[in-house]
Amino acid sequence: AAERLSGKTIFITGASAGIGQATALEYLDASNGNVKLILAARRLDRLEEFKEKALKEYSSAKIYIGQLDVTQFDKIQPFLDGLPEEFKDIDILVNNAGKALGSDKVGEISTADIEGMINTNVVGLITVTQAVLPIFKAKNSGDIVNLGSVAGREAYPTGSIYCATKHAVRAFTQSLRKELIDTKIRVIEIDPGNVETEFSLVRYKGDAVRAKKVYENTEPLYADDVADLIVYTTSRKPNTVVADVLLFATNQA
Ligand code: NDP
Repeated sequence: AAERLSGKTIFITGASAGIGQATALEYLDASNGNVKLILAARRLDRLEEFKEKALKEYSSAKIYIGQLDVTQFDKIQPFLDGLPEEFKDIDILVNNAGKALGSDKVGEISTADIEGMINTNVVGLITVTQAVLPIFKAKNSGDIVNLGSVAGREAYPTGSIYCATKHAVRAFTQSLRKELIDTKIRVIEIDPGNVETEFSLVRYKGDAVRAKKVYENTEPLYADDVADLIVYTTSRKPNTVVADVLLFATNQA
């Protein structure tokens, strides 16, 4: 894996926490610090903190951090255009930024929450992909990893919009893979089950007690479990693609 990752430039959205941040760390670890990371999220202070720590451990790594809200669609292309020259040639895109907001039944969900989920999980992901695609097409290579969810394969009550967004991610990913079938660009869907991150805190809007309960009854996945899989899929032989993975904790049904 280290050899195949060596020198790669990896762009991770939502890298300030959870799976995104764990993925950044996993790429550093798997490559012995021999990668360039572009880490984006809204909370720049969290990215700064991560960068500082990471560079202490992996002094050979190159890390660019930048503020990017993927729901500000018109800021995405300028973000890429503004990258320092040595980071412009992206090899791997990890479309990770995403969220659930609330647990309301259909009749009660606010328009703000509906838009928050759709704009982040779907329109943001698509727009970032559209911005990166020309780079991949120009060199006929590159990996696109989309974070779906088990919620993209089944649907549950009080998760209607989140489930709808992750079904959309799954459909988008499949279409894109088929559109790119004659290229060497790989399109990868990762669908985790329950992962212990800040996801539930965001979903329950800061209610830490409620968020903690989500992870109490069964052993969840941890962010680094998903990160490990992302790094695995993007370090396979270039003539193969791990196209579509459902990742559960061993005891999750
Ligand atoms: P976290 O809440 O821990 O992390 C989410 C990340 O996304 C943060 O870095 C956050 O950073 C970023 N983010 C949120 N909104 C935006 C935005 N508008 N623009 C840019 N970045 C944004 O959640 P997870 O790590 O668990 O989630 C990562 C992905 O995995 C999501 O797509 C989620 O749907 C998916 N997933 C999670 C599961 C789980 O159980 N946790 C299960 C299955 C899939 P900031 O706030 O600084 O912008």
